[in-house]
Amino acid sequence: MRNKKTIIISNRLPLRVERRDGELHFIPSEGGLATGLGSIYQQEGNIWVGWPGFVPENEQEEILTRAKLAELNLVPVFLTEEELQGYYEGFSNEVLWPIFHYRLSYAVYNTDNWHIYQQVNRKFAEAVNEQQPGDKDDVWIHDYQLMLLPQMVREQHPSMAIGYFQHIPFPPDEVFRCIPWRDELIKGLLGADLIAFHTYNDTQHFLNACTHLLGLPIQNNCLHVDGRSVYAEVYPMGIDFDKFSQLAKSAAIQERSREIKNYYKNRKFILCIDRLDYSKGIIERLQAYESLLQEHPELREKIVLYQLVVPSRDTVPQYRLLRDEIDRAVGHINSIYGMNEWQPIAYYYNSFPLEELSALYVAADVCLVTSIRDGMNLVCKEYVASKEDNPGVLVLSELAGASKELLEAIQVNPNSIDQIRQALKQAIEMPEDEQQRRMQDSIEIVRKFNVRHWVKIFFNRLHEIKSLQKQEMARRVRSEVKDSISKAYREAKKRLFFLDYDGTLIGFHKDADAASPTESLYRTLELLQSNPANQIVIISGRPHETLERWFGKKDYFLVAEHGAWSNYPEHHWHGKNHISTRWKIPVKHIMNKFANRTAGAIVEEKTYSLAWHYRKAQNGLGQLRSQELVDSLRYLIPDHGLQLLMGDKVIEVKSSELNKGKAAMEVVAHYKPDFIFAIGDDATDEDMFLELPEEAITVKVGNKKSAAQYYVESQEEAVSLIDYFATENLDETSADNNNAHFQKL
Ligand code: UDP
Repeated sequence: MRNKKTIIISNRLPLRVERRDGELHFIPSEGGLATGLGSIYQQEGNIWVGWPGFVPENEQEEILTRAKLAELNLVPVFLTEEELQGYYEGFSNEVLWPIFHYRLSYAVYNTDNWHIYQQVNRKFAEAVNEQQPGDKDDVWIHDYQLMLLPQMVREQHPSMAIGYFQHIPFPPDEVFRCIPWRDELIKGLLGADLIAFHTYNDTQHFLNACTHLLGLPIQNNCLHVDGRSVYAEVYPMGIDFDKFSQLAKSAAIQERSREIKNYYKNRKFILCIDRLDYSKGIIERLQAYESLLQEHPELREKIVLYQLVVPSRDTVPQYRLLRDEIDRAVGHINSIYGMNEWQPIAYYYNSFPLEELSALYVAADVCLVTSIRDGMNLVCKEYVASKEDNPGVLVLSELAGASKELLEAIQVNPNSIDQIRQALKQAIEMPEDEQQRRMQDSIEIVRKFNVRHWVKIFFNRLHEIKSLQKQEMARRVRSEVKDSISKAYREAKKRLFFLDYDGTLIGFHKDADAASPTESLYRTLELLQSNPANQIVIISGRPHETLERWFGKKDYFLVAEHGAWSNYPEHHWHGKNHISTRWKIPVKHIMNKFANRTAGAIVEEKTYSLAWHYRKAQNGLGQLRSQELVDSLRYLIPDHGLQLLMGDKVIEVKSSELNKGKAAMEVVAHYKPDFIFAIGDDATDEDMFLELPEEAITVKVGNKKSAAQYYVESQEEAVSLIDYFATENLDETSADNNNAHFQKL
């Protein structure tokens, strides 16, 4: 048997290919992701698919690279200069990056780049396919360059476990909406089973985008997409804690750290490490540092700000401008405040090896992170991991994902020069015992939620979701389930069909009156009822006058207003007159108050219930007001023996003596059927599912939590299931006719 395989996919492979002296060199990456996933992709059979970071000069070079990478379980996706320009620099870094970092004005929308982005995502999908993955394999896709890939892989492998992690923030849905191709991007992500982000807010923004832009149904953090449950969750990425902690304790690093401190004359050492990026708040921080020197001249010569900027994306114009701006700001501060013996800022535009970074972390009295927006920020976690044995203070932007975990850092709003200045002063003066106490808390978090833990819990959850989906599939009415229901149907002689109306027989309409039965629905129902062994019961929350208008001339039994009225058994209506309706006065008052405040909401009065409909209210607002309404009504419910039902865009209050379960059981008791089928979509139908005898076949419309045995995905599927029984009649009738024919013979 073939082993299960794991495929990791990211824009870059965890290595660098360099051409030196006419030879190719393969240099492994030391980044956190490479470390975290190392134990996974290096296992036999597993692979990592990505761009190797260079464009081969000829076919021979490409073949050689492929062979060399294959030995390391790596699969390259080679990109041409044009592809790199359009997909990476153009679309990823000039549309997605600025929008996802809330910089709307930096986005450059270019349709050609969008097409190349699609094309390159397709290229990655083909590279995955070439590996001939099986449906039992796991795929983990990383980051915003590959947002379309989950769906592209899903199309080829409908039941494969696909995870996606976004390493950068996800913006509020109204910001995301600015991207002309936002719907396609979300649909791309929804090919995954688990979509994860660093923070709770990012996750909520994504879920809002799904519901507000695509109108997808959602339950907590679970979305229903083409019959599949897709989960959006929070998994903050960690670092390789042990690596940083052990390096920091090593004699060589301690020595190098002392050298650095001595070089800067043991002045208070403030460390900043950033990739060149406008999201890092480098300019704001330099301004804050200048204001510290201005307001506190006594600190001059006693402190030094060490700013390391790692070169990045210098072909994008915004980045070149930023670099010039940093050069000017550093030059300005050093020339104004600097003295012979003291430069206020030590500025490096460079990339350092891990050991040098570690020595800097150990040497730093303060680590200052002022990102204006940052998915996580790993630098601050690396600093924390390097501080097990020596004091230090972290000043951290509240707009970096890490701020949600490192609560003991001094948190600042990076747009406030005053806050950064005050935080720096506080950090410089913080007593050592306080430093240790605060750092200890952060250390525990960074140690526990390290990158290996992150990988482990992500995969565990992905597998858990796959088994949840399997259980759901078992409940879903598919051909096997239909076969077994058919068997019970054929064996029965007296069948009852309880059919809910709105959301089951007819789809949802903004205008309740427009949801009248269609010709084709009438035909289906007639066909079902035409078998003398079948009896339809339309069981609805609608007023009895409406059901009478639509179905009064039919042979069906009708139950209206959740059981307050029925025409069973003599086909004339009777209500439950003994039930009190005094409670309606206070409830109506409250419902009217909320309807007056919410455009599009209306109150419907039925004989024994009141309903607050918000189908036509603004998306989101209706939901919010309905929750407020529920809170206001709650105290009236127990006192008056009422039941509150939260349906699809409706809040309904009725006497708890009335419910579809009791009404259905009254019919069952008289009719004595040997086959019961009940189908419905709403909270009110749950009473019916719960009360009907165990052998009844109960079906929920929509994959939601329910007491029903089975579910169908949509209202259309509900009608086609009823249609299936109706057509079954034909088969059965023709079979009976055949039998009759044989008997005659
Ligand atoms: N880093 C590096 N070489 C350097 C400076 C930094 O490899 O000279 C690493 C640093 O250790 C950290 C990463 O770059 O792991 C920066 O990650 P972060 O999340 O802070 O920012 P990003 O660049 O992802 O926006």
